[in-house]
Amino acid sequence: MLIGYVTPIVLVGVAAAIAWKFKALDLGGLATALLLAFILMFTSLPVLYIMMAFFFSSSILTFLGYKSKESKGVAERKGGRRTAQVLCSGGVPAALTLVSVVIPSEYKPAVILAAISSIAYANADTWAAELGTLSKKDPILLINPRIRVPPGVSGGITLLGEFGALTGSALIALLYLVVTNGYRSIPIGSAGLIFLLGWLGEILDALLGAILQVKYVCTKCQVLWDHETHICGARTEYLRGYRFVKNEIVNLLTELLISSIVFFISLYL
Ligand SMILES: [Zn+2]
Repeated sequence: MLIGYVTPIVLVGVAAAIAWKFKALDLGGLATALLLAFILMFTSLPVLYIMMAFFFSSSILTFLGYKSKESKGVAERKGGRRTAQVLCSGGVPAALTLVSVVIPSEYKPAVILAAISSIAYANADTWAAELGTLSKKDPILLINPRIRVPPGVSGGITLLGEFGALTGSALIALLYLVVTNGYRSIPIGSAGLIFLLGWLGEILDALLGAILQVKYVCTKCQVLWDHETHICGARTEYLRGYRFVKNEIVNLLTELLISSIVFFISLYL
């Protein structure tokens, strides 16, 4: 029985070493990611492999055009992603997978589908952000398309970012077909659901980001910004939104929404 764990343990070990070498995660982020990986290892290997694909593909895109992102003030910090970021994007799918082991078996497929859909959203969102910030044109605000915002401001979308969201979600849906091959009879419909809800999650994220997330205005450049200091160095002024709602909170909220929607859809359809 233990022999079955050799492959996942080796894969997780190699992934952790690579993440540490390239500073994709800081120490807290790495410890949290390892904890989530161990939960998944003993609850669902397909979800573990899908989660690893999310982690790797998103980390690679983070490094793509890093210099350009740095100059726009939207690059991930050099030390790597933190505990809160890992927990807010990986916590919901890991918790759901843990729940799937203890609930009555008729609910299990719906809960696993909800977990994978929240990973599809997390991947769509990260791909959208990492590709979108490379766009030559400034993003438009989803709730008011006439307003253009600087790259990286929550609630903004670009064509390149939407392409990233669709591709990122599609990758997880395709991977679902691969890792669950022979595990469910007709997984095509559920793969479609994962793909659509992953992408819808990214849209929902942009909406929540625009409405709930704290927004500031740079006193010098007069542009919207998500943080208290603008890249020009000037202080910003509070405009609207809840101060405690940062990007991680929007991610967590969206994952909870998307996984609930998928759970009920797959239960009643
Ligand atoms: Zn400024």
